[in-house]
Amino acid sequence: MHEMALCEGIIGIVEEEARNRSFSRVKAVCLEIGALSHVAPEAIKFCFEAVAVRTIAQGARLEIIATPGIAWCMACSKSVEIKQRYEPCPSCGSHQLQVTGGEEMRVNKLEVA
Ligand SMILES: [Zn+2]
Repeated sequence: MHEMALCEGIIGIVEEEARNRSFSRVKAVCLEIGALSHVAPEAIKFCFEAVAVRTIAQGARLEIIATPGIAWCMACSKSVEIKQRYEPCPSCGSHQLQVTGGEEMRVNKLEVA
């Protein structure tokens, strides 16, 4: 249960923020999920609700922003958008790509009460 562990991590971040900024209720959690992160947004939504029970984030709305996969194409010398890892460059077909973005999942912002 990869997503379960990720959700526990999200709750951990939220609880730490709550301690630092002293709020007691979270209305929404905005999460960025990179296209290359191997994280399934639907699974995250499902797990989040379960993991959030009896925590500060119970009942919080989860907003998911999908961020694109970005790679640097050595042949074109420019950044290109890719949908999957090991995909060829969409503009020249080269496989000489270096992934530079879209691999991460992070809490973008919290809406608190
Ligand atoms: Zn290219």
